[in-house]
Amino acid sequence: MSGSAYYWCLHCFRASKAERLAPGPIEPGECPYPDCDGIFWDLIPWEDIRRMTKNGSGLPEIPKTDELYYPEKDGRLVVQEV
Ligand SMILES: [Zn+2]
Repeated sequence: MSGSAYYWCLHCFRASKAERLAPGPIEPGECPYPDCDGIFWDLIPWEDIRRMTKNGSGLPEIPKTDELYYPEKDGRLVVQEV
């Protein structure tokens, strides 16, 4: 089951609404931005990003789709190494 409403792309650092993702062979699909080649494993549920970040409470519940959320750059988004 793919229940997340938003996904964050590891390649372009942008968030996308789940239904805006490009269709792909594997859920949840592929990054919809034409200049990005992010595929299913690059897409992380937004709620997981909020959970994984040091300052996740500073991230909006609903991400802006035209905004970049950099990992470990400006302090807004710090993704832990897996
Ligand atoms: Zn992307």
